[in-house]
Amino acid sequence: MFLTTKTPWAWRREEVRLFVLFVPLWLTKPFILILAIVSTFSLSCRAAQRSPYVERAEIMGTTFTIKIDGAGNGARATSAALEEIRRIDRLLSTYKEDSEISEVNRRAFDEPVAVGADFRNVLNASRIYSEMGDGAFDPTVYPLMRLWGFTRREGRIPTNDELAKTLPLLDLSQVTLDESTHAIRLAREGMGLDFGGIAKGYAVDRAIGILKRYGVESAIIDAGGNFYALGTPRSRDHWRAGVRHPLKHDEVIARLPIANKGVSTSGNYERFFEIGDKKYCHIMDPRTGRPVERMLSATVIADSAMAADALSTAAFVLGPEKGMELIEALPDIEGMLIVQETNSPEDFQILISSGLQETIELLLPSSL
Ligand code: ADP
Ligand code: MG
Repeated sequence: MFLTTKTPWAWRREEVRLFVLFVPLWLTKPFILILAIVSTFSLSCRAAQRSPYVERAEIMGTTFTIKIDGAGNGARATSAALEEIRRIDRLLSTYKEDSEISEVNRRAFDEPVAVGADFRNVLNASRIYSEMGDGAFDPTVYPLMRLWGFTRREGRIPTNDELAKTLPLLDLSQVTLDESTHAIRLAREGMGLDFGGIAKGYAVDRAIGILKRYGVESAIIDAGGNFYALGTPRSRDHWRAGVRHPLKHDEVIARLPIANKGVSTSGNYERFFEIGDKKYCHIMDPRTGRPVERMLSATVIADSAMAADALSTAAFVLGPEKGMELIEALPDIEGMLIVQETNSPEDFQILISSGLQETIELLLPSSL
């Protein structure tokens, strides 16, 4: 996901002229000095207000870009927002040995493991998105990620026997949360949780909450495929989120106008391994235990970045027909699916939900 905006940050000429007219009336030396200081201060404040404040940080295996439009304490708000994202990463990353989720995956079959509010929020939300997509979104996918070598970043193809043994470990109903002790239990040995399909969206929403607390009214957070647009930029009535071309690394395939919405794209290009000329992507179909095939990307627009994140993963797993059915059935959700048509990489089909067809800007050669 890329952000594209053409905000003019130019000076307004009248404001500068105002000072010029003032000077001849008070042509004494001290006054000129004071006026010069006051005007410089005023101009630099205005410059600070006009320039968007942009900061980037590498967290959760991706680049987070925070861009704040206009007034507000950009640097302090951004650093608090990035700290919040780092805090969530420390809790929910399966790549960190001492995270809450790693603790749950290590111990929660043997004994109850108490978790904090963020973990509970994400688990409870996961149940809702799992139900919406008929189990396509499934945070108990961790044993499969391990089996296919994604957790060690060394792809491998499991045997049918291994797959048959692993599939029964995917079952969200076997993950229980005791509401009074806040403890998690995993009912089967070898089960494990993986919030990789939802945690980035949750982190983006939390970070937007922090920006708001600092008085920010207009900003975007882009977490490489997960995006939230707060308010509108000063010069237009929407932000524009660019959706990455699934086959061309640095190109945008579509632009979506959004305001106060989350957008997420799940793509087969994000993490994958290749054996022979076959590509195995990091999104698993919990029904088969295998990486999803044919789908190039699934983009979902929703009211929160977390909903967009989880539902884009669900739509990716469900595939073109069922995925679009899900998007159309849910109120206030829109989306776009890109599907491989044949074995020729250039041959793909784009499906766009009915509420998006008027506003989406496709950037394709006219022959397509
Ligand atoms: P990205 O991480 O590229 O933004 P997704 O949001 O679709 O993409 O998340 C993919 C990640 O979610 C995987 O790396 C894995 O950790 C986890 N995952 C894989 N398959 C599923 C699934 N069917 N349901 C929920 N999470 C999944
Ligand atoms: Mg996702």
